[in-house]
Amino acid sequence: MNEIDALVRPNILALSPYSTARDDFKGQAEVFIDANESPFPNGWNRYPDPRQKALKARIAQIKGVSADRIFVGNGSDEAIDVLMRVFCTPGRDGIVSIAPSYGMYRVAADINDLPLKEVQLGEGFSLEPEKLLAACDGHTKLLFLCSPNNPSGNAFPTGELLRIAEAFRGITVVDEAYIDFSSQPSLLPQLDAHPRLVVLQTLSKARGLAALRVGLAFASPRIIELMSRVKYPYNINAAAQKLAMEALEEPIEAHVATILAQRDRLMQELPRFPFVKKIWPSDANFLLVEVADADATYEHLTRDGIIVRNRNRVTGCRGCLRITVGLPEENDRLLASLTKL
Ligand SMILES: *Cc1c(COP(=O)(O)O)cnc(C)c1O
Repeated sequence: MNEIDALVRPNILALSPYSTARDDFKGQAEVFIDANESPFPNGWNRYPDPRQKALKARIAQIKGVSADRIFVGNGSDEAIDVLMRVFCTPGRDGIVSIAPSYGMYRVAADINDLPLKEVQLGEGFSLEPEKLLAACDGHTKLLFLCSPNNPSGNAFPTGELLRIAEAFRGITVVDEAYIDFSSQPSLLPQLDAHPRLVVLQTLSKARGLAALRVGLAFASPRIIELMSRVKYPYNINAAAQKLAMEALEEPIEAHVATILAQRDRLMQELPRFPFVKKIWPSDANFLLVEVADADATYEHLTRDGIIVRNRNRVTGCRGCLRITVGLPEENDRLLASLTKL
């Protein structure tokens, strides 16, 4: 058995996935009376492509990754859940993640009844590879890293991420939801050399398509095949596939540049408020800001119609608010409101 299959849940290895025969015959066929759909055309009467071939082909071009290394999920959140269902048997296997980090790793682990061990980041939200590896044992199937990390905002050094991915015998998942805003490179070019590495990206952030729910996982073809077995056959609806294809033709560079310039602006302006104690360096489209009284600042902003994320009760983030970089005029509103505090 190869090293990936040895990590997979036995019931998933044995699974014959629900088959949608249509796909294989589409080229030659003219009459589709196999799926009990309505025959009356209205633009949406046919089931969508369960393999998302056109969308994957376009993503493959854009990312420089072959289509058989791409999984498309109903948000990255689906990819996180599917990875757990492919690799982790409840009652036997476990997961390790960094903390503080993205809340969905915990939620998905709890739903799947899997123990998740959180390893606190070190000084300045730094990665501590030895501590992380020491938290993994023979039953740890998945290791979740997030870079740039949410909510701390920092990206971890590529060398450290790869060293962990190599040393850990299970599947290392690096969540790159914010990679378009980062000064660090993506790990996508490393997939070939690291067959147990999964990279998550999403169209929800820099791409501006949060409402469509399109998340991406990149990995070795075997991992992608296993994930595709487990997902719902029609997990990406036809509207999302079509609109995502169209949106991928739009450039995002100008929007990313605006966000980065506004992030710099907030980095400059926020320290002028006496109650701002620290702004953590960010490789993402948000800032983690430590203030003298996070709850009071949060309440004040809320009363002013400005919603930020209160991270005061998150371990390692005491006193912190997470503020997404908005439009220039939205950032004006934020700064004006803080002036009144
Ligand atoms: C926002 C975010 C995602 C995106 O999730 P989607 O389900 O694709 O919208 C993934 N990971 C992290 C760390 C995030 O902050």
